[in-house]
Amino acid sequence: MADKQPIYILPENIERTIGKDAQRNNILAAKLVAESVKTTLGPKGMDKMLVDALGDITITNDGVTILEKMEIEHPAAKMMVEIAKTQESEVGDGTTTAVMLAGKLLENAEKLLDMKIHPTVITKGYHIASEKAKEFLKELSVDVTYEREDLLRNIVKTAMTGKGAESSKEKFSEIVVSAIKQIHENGLVNLNNIKIVKNKSFGVEDTELINGVIIDKERVSMDMPVCIENARIALISEALEIKNISSEAKISISSPTQLQEFLNREELLLKQIVDKIESIGANVIFCQKGIDDVVQYYLAKKGIYACRRVSKSDIDMLAYATGAKTISNLNELSSNELGRSKIVEEIRHGDEAMTYVKGCENPKAITILIHGGSEHVMDEVERAFKDGLGDVSTVIRDRKVVAGAGAIEIEISKRLKEFANTMSGREQLAVIEFANSLEFIPSTLSENAGLDPIDILTELKSRHDKGEKYAGINIFNNRVENVFEKGIIEPAKIKSQAISSATEVAIMILRIDDVLASKTQPKSSPRMGGMPDMSGMD
Ligand code: ADP
Ligand code: MG
Repeated sequence: MADKQPIYILPENIERTIGKDAQRNNILAAKLVAESVKTTLGPKGMDKMLVDALGDITITNDGVTILEKMEIEHPAAKMMVEIAKTQESEVGDGTTTAVMLAGKLLENAEKLLDMKIHPTVITKGYHIASEKAKEFLKELSVDVTYEREDLLRNIVKTAMTGKGAESSKEKFSEIVVSAIKQIHENGLVNLNNIKIVKNKSFGVEDTELINGVIIDKERVSMDMPVCIENARIALISEALEIKNISSEAKISISSPTQLQEFLNREELLLKQIVDKIESIGANVIFCQKGIDDVVQYYLAKKGIYACRRVSKSDIDMLAYATGAKTISNLNELSSNELGRSKIVEEIRHGDEAMTYVKGCENPKAITILIHGGSEHVMDEVERAFKDGLGDVSTVIRDRKVVAGAGAIEIEISKRLKEFANTMSGREQLAVIEFANSLEFIPSTLSENAGLDPIDILTELKSRHDKGEKYAGINIFNNRVENVFEKGIIEPAKIKSQAISSATEVAIMILRIDDVLASKTQPKSSPRMGGMPDMSGMD
């Protein structure tokens, strides 16, 4: 027999992993990602401290934040991070749940692979299970309208437990619900119209809802009043200056009187700007561009409050909050374009001054002002607020809630197992593993609270078998009970999104049996130019 020559079809710098190795490798990576966020799940979840290359510290309990900051390299692991990001952008909460579910689906698929079940059978079974699970989820969800403030507040509290906001969640849930009720229009919430501002002063519990906007600018001149009551606000997108004379133009001035005349005339034009503003009754100006010194002087003289170089997004928010119309040309300005608020005030904390526009009537943009003693604390409170805001806006849109604390997962799992019994064929095994994966949520909630997950799961299952579909593990008193009644509720959409994206990524990873990866070039070390090759020397 002639020796076979190996045939190379790929360039040298491609690393190839095939078949089982590729699959196991990917599954392992995905499991590791799930493992890394597992301890943060639920009210008793722990926090992680992440330190980046520059030494900046983040302390958080938030799944997506952790994964984003981990700078994950492995391609399959990166796909897991994507689920967290999708979850965050679609529904704003439930990131840890989604990632853990995907990890568990893959771990359980591995068991089936070991039993020599083909990946396509597993993926088909998972697909069927996911569709069924969402059907059950629909059956199990309860209608809620935005009039039910008590339920909305409970959703926020459920979202905020275990985050830095825990201690003040009564107050915070009220803030979130009032903010959303204030700005929603026909069930649609644009979260961009809720501004979150952080202020290093007082304590977290002093966090407040401002009926208006806070902008990070001080008044342009110290001679302007610090506070204006009954503000009539003009928003101007153009500079309050005399437009530059085109560079072609020449002005010839031959005598000092002519120069004086020219300057007087310029000043007159600038003063006219202020006269115009005063004549229509504006006493506050927010200008997106610059304000000439002379204009500043006259504005201050007339007791008008002004800020310059206010960002476009702040100008837009001010318009939503005060009802003002932004104008670009001063000639267009009339009293109709002015917005109103009870107070416009510069408030100073330490070296920083900000302008508060407060007491707007029926504002369509609003501000949550977070107080706190340190940046890290305020950042984590902000993330908790974002989860709460995401959840309530999701519910207002979708109008469906489910019981949290593992209740929904156990009930769906139970129904999936019953459904699997009606199936024939090997896909049945995958449906059962899918159902088992859902149990990972209540089991981890218990484990993180220091309870025995096996005991809790056994009790949960037996209670659900008896028909208690809202039985969950309440981590506040460590009892298995009707958690819906206790107000532990979540938007149904969080769960359906988590199921969809976890299944999708698990299926995608399971279908890969060949990984071709270009080897990254090692970081080039500084070469010593012109040195002879010394490799042959001894
Ligand atoms: P995620 O990133 O998935 O939202 P969280 O750390 O926010 O992760 O935890 C959410 C889980 O905690 C949900 O399953 C929710 O039902 C559960 N949970 C919230 N409050 C309680 C509670 N009091 N008892 C038990 N579980 C709770
Ligand atoms: Mg959450």
